[in-house]
Amino acid sequence: MEYFPPALEELVEQFAKLPGIGRKTAQRLAFYLLDQPREVGEGFAQAILRAKTAISCCPVCQNLTEGEGPCAICASPKRERGVVCVVADPKDVVALERSREYQGLYHVLHGVISPMNHVGPEDLRIGELMSRVAGGGVEEVIMATNPDTEGETTAMYLSRLIKPFGVKVTRLAYGIPVGSHLEFADEATLTRAMEGRREME
Ligand SMILES: [Zn+2]
Repeated sequence: MEYFPPALEELVEQFAKLPGIGRKTAQRLAFYLLDQPREVGEGFAQAILRAKTAISCCPVCQNLTEGEGPCAICASPKRERGVVCVVADPKDVVALERSREYQGLYHVLHGVISPMNHVGPEDLRIGELMSRVAGGGVEEVIMATNPDTEGETTAMYLSRLIKPFGVKVTRLAYGIPVGSHLEFADEATLTRAMEGRREME
């Protein structure tokens, strides 16, 4: 049994709670922080507290934002307001924004329907999405959940809810990843790529 002073043991335990951090890495991080000047530790602790206090969900799209009121994307006059892209996770917004291709708005579900993990529609931000659709002004909803079983189930479920409002529902075309070769793509990917084909300009 390794011996650590209680305060150090506590720090190791906190690090070990983070995803992907095992006990050995947690120890390395704790020792590293202890070695640093006091300000480094304070800055780290304050950043965690500040993030936990200041960050909330945008009342419109449910993405993470800082402060009261709509997030920067929802508030931007440059965005197309009639198009809403539905994603599972705030990280997906970051990925789509990186492409600089998309000009519409988002809606973050904070998960996907997953009976195996006991996540039902009521656990997601679906009510908020339906209020936006029912409120008018939405012409197209793009389903951008992942192309796995849970993502597909969620997209299908939402599509059936949204279509009665006369709103166009589309699904992202998943295809061959850019930079990879057709011969290495699996069957599902190829089928998707074929189904999602568009006329060339
Ligand atoms: Zn927003």
